[in-house]
Amino acid sequence: MPRSLFVTTALPYANGPLHIGHMMEYIQADIWVRFMRASGHVVHFVCADDAHGAPIMLQAEKEGISPEELVRHVALGRPECLDGFLISFDYWHSTESPENVALSQEFYRSLRDAGLIAQRTIEQFFDPVKGMFLPDRYIRGECPNCHSKDQNGDNCEVCGTVYAPTQLIDPVSILTGATPILRASEHFFFKLSDPRCLAFLRQWTAGPHLQPEVRKKASEWLVVDDSGQSQLTDWDISRDAPYFGIPIPDAPGKYFYVWLDAPVGYLAALKAYFESGKAKEKTGTTQTFEEFLADATTEQVHFIGKDIIYFHTLFWPAMLHFTGHKTPDMIAVHGFLTVSGDKMSKSRGTGISPIRYLREGMNPEWLRYYLASKLTSHVEDFDLSPEDFVARVNSDLIGKYVNIASRSAPFLTRHFEGRVADVGQEPAWLGLKASEAATEIERDFMARDFARALRTVMAFADAVNQLFDSAKPWELAKAPEQAEWLQKVCSISILAFAHMTLWLKPVLPALAARAETFLRIEPLNWTQRICVSQIGTYRHLMARVELSAFDRLFAPIEESQKIVKKAEKPVIELAATVTIDDFAKIDLRVARIVKAKEVDGSDKLLHLTLDAGEGRLRQVFSGIKSAYRADELVGRLAILVANLAPRKMKFGISEGMVLAASGKIAEDGEALFLLEANSEAKPGMRVS
Ligand SMILES: [Zn+2]
Repeated sequence: MPRSLFVTTALPYANGPLHIGHMMEYIQADIWVRFMRASGHVVHFVCADDAHGAPIMLQAEKEGISPEELVRHVALGRPECLDGFLISFDYWHSTESPENVALSQEFYRSLRDAGLIAQRTIEQFFDPVKGMFLPDRYIRGECPNCHSKDQNGDNCEVCGTVYAPTQLIDPVSILTGATPILRASEHFFFKLSDPRCLAFLRQWTAGPHLQPEVRKKASEWLVVDDSGQSQLTDWDISRDAPYFGIPIPDAPGKYFYVWLDAPVGYLAALKAYFESGKAKEKTGTTQTFEEFLADATTEQVHFIGKDIIYFHTLFWPAMLHFTGHKTPDMIAVHGFLTVSGDKMSKSRGTGISPIRYLREGMNPEWLRYYLASKLTSHVEDFDLSPEDFVARVNSDLIGKYVNIASRSAPFLTRHFEGRVADVGQEPAWLGLKASEAATEIERDFMARDFARALRTVMAFADAVNQLFDSAKPWELAKAPEQAEWLQKVCSISILAFAHMTLWLKPVLPALAARAETFLRIEPLNWTQRICVSQIGTYRHLMARVELSAFDRLFAPIEESQKIVKKAEKPVIELAATVTIDDFAKIDLRVARIVKAKEVDGSDKLLHLTLDAGEGRLRQVFSGIKSAYRADELVGRLAILVANLAPRKMKFGISEGMVLAASGKIAEDGEALFLLEANSEAKPGMRVS
């Protein structure tokens, strides 16, 4: 039965670019989502910017713009990172949105109707110069315990004591340097201490939707003493103006604390996604947002970091439950990522910037693979070490997986015109246990134990490489009577490679797509049998990573800009400007390549016969032989310069020219790519 899932990651705070910790979470969730989709399940994967709160308000003020502008500006930078790392969110929204305002206020009214909102007057520090109440982090002062100066508002970094800001000696506002004064204000509270909440949470947190270590943590917060009282205190959900947030209904000058409307933002993003028509477009669903959310079969999954367990195992399920919503079906908590331990992050600032990683030209799938090889279903911290990264990527991905295709394909191409022998189902595969491995890998992906899944894939790759080595195809190739055996060994290797491509596809979607093209197969998924009968020409699937790439990544910004400047020289020099009329003189047409053959006596040219929809065929000599075999071009739709004057060449007359892109690509030197029209275009269509 296909499952119907609603998956989110935590919402990033909209005060700056995404950091490596965000990317780890998105990659983790994305791998799981891609696996579920490829297994035939319907997944709606959404996220949003967390736009509200005092830090954003104050930062916008510093930059002289409105908070809305700041949030919009930050949102504009998201796609480069998200698309760059191949994160397949279906929709990206913002908590500063009409959907979120309406939903947050609905949640509040509904909790108030249930008798779960209390009003109390509390005293808080107030900055008399700035005219605002101060969050703890905006107050500093002398530790009441060890008397160290300039300590945080809520804890001392020297002796570790935790206290209330009112206990600080000589407190100051970090916004103005003024001495804060105590001022009374009425606040709204979610009555988490209500016996109904406690009873619900004790039951909910004991369920299977939490990892064992998270369940244990939550149960510690919910311990009750002999009199049935717990530590759970009411949750302050209001903030006084000025505040960038959502107004509390019927309470002028009061706003929801950002942590109330942030998780509601999950639903707001889903609502906007459904109402935009994109959910229907992507999955064919006919349900409305309300129907989908109320559907008992809908599963709600949140990927989060361990720092926000409290919000997602207490506040959020209680908010959902007491407003008549379904509660989450899974809270998937991960640990923290460090980069080369503390040493590097301290001396080199923020560790690895994901944007910089991309801009340095590092392959996003290297990082996806490396993180996946570390991620388990447990709440574990782990460290990214460049040496380990390079070793994993080069020895596993290139040395084991890619290697299988690169060494077996040439034999099939050279001796069997790329034909893959029918080697039947797995029992005939000389002891390779593909279906056994597949069962384990499928189970581990489902359980989010990616590290174990990848270990199984790589153990299988070792077995395939051993099989290949022991068969010695390079010797078989010299003996014509061994041809059948040679084809069988290489065919089994290629089929094994196809299976591994399916297994690695959630982690390496772009590499898998290139492999599918090479294998000439439809996109792989877990619901269909894998069949390969004919391979295309093998082209390099992935470059190795060099340790020096990390030197550039960690170099101070100015230095790396120098590197970039040096590398970018010479800048691209464009040809002289032409007018639109000049351009219109060139008649470009879609043309189908109906025949392609080599040209005797030329190592550069291919002789193409083209159908440009003119009721006659044309012949064109094209200098693309270095990149394409004649037979693989037949049937493709090229772009023909149709009104180019015919040119007499040594081999005949060339009636036009097909377009191709050529130039340097990283590490691999020069490359050439034929420009092709979409397969649904028709010969003769004009290109403009
Ligand atoms: Zn102290």
